[in-house]
Amino acid sequence: MDGNNCEFSIGHVWEFLRPHAPRVQWYSMVWFSQCIPRHTFMVWILMGERLKTQDRLKAWESQHGSSLLCLLCNMVQDSHDHLFFSCMFTSQVWSLVLTHIDFPIVMHGWKDFVLLVSPFVVRIVARIVVIKLIFAASVYYVWHERNRRLFKKGNRSSMQLYETIYSTVRLKLMSFRWKSTPSALRLKSDWKIS
Ligand SMILES: [Zn+2]
Repeated sequence: MDGNNCEFSIGHVWEFLRPHAPRVQWYSMVWFSQCIPRHTFMVWILMGERLKTQDRLKAWESQHGSSLLCLLCNMVQDSHDHLFFSCMFTSQVWSLVLTHIDFPIVMHGWKDFVLLVSPFVVRIVARIVVIKLIFAASVYYVWHERNRRLFKKGNRSSMQLYETIYSTVRLKLMSFRWKSTPSALRLKSDWKIS
């Protein structure tokens, strides 16, 4: 490396070849040691606005005359912000899952989540970890539901989706090694973890 001989290492080669970019502001809101990787990957894609929602397909659609509606509400074309935040179906899911966090969140898009949570994110407290887990699980299952409907695998109600999100996050929380602080004990009680 750098014109000098050194012992061969795949790690060195990867570091040399991979693109290097500055760490984004929301990195620690997405990647954290207790995260569920498949959920985190979805949030990463959402925040990069890389999902194939219809706002990203408009150029293609204009050539092919497609006018699909949001598969969750059947009212408007979907977009990143509509599908995950302003869609009536998704709003019902959010209103249910957010009853499990003691935190004032009103979201119209993922940037609202970043703005609200970022002042607290450097403090690794259980409550913030729970909020991040809920956010990621909700994003994952909303996109999953959208794809189920796209591929005609059946529709779930907002209540069924909420129950899936709740049980997934609760299962993850059950694997934690909890401290005996008052806030941790309160969280355990809220999530019915013995
Ligand atoms: Zn919708």
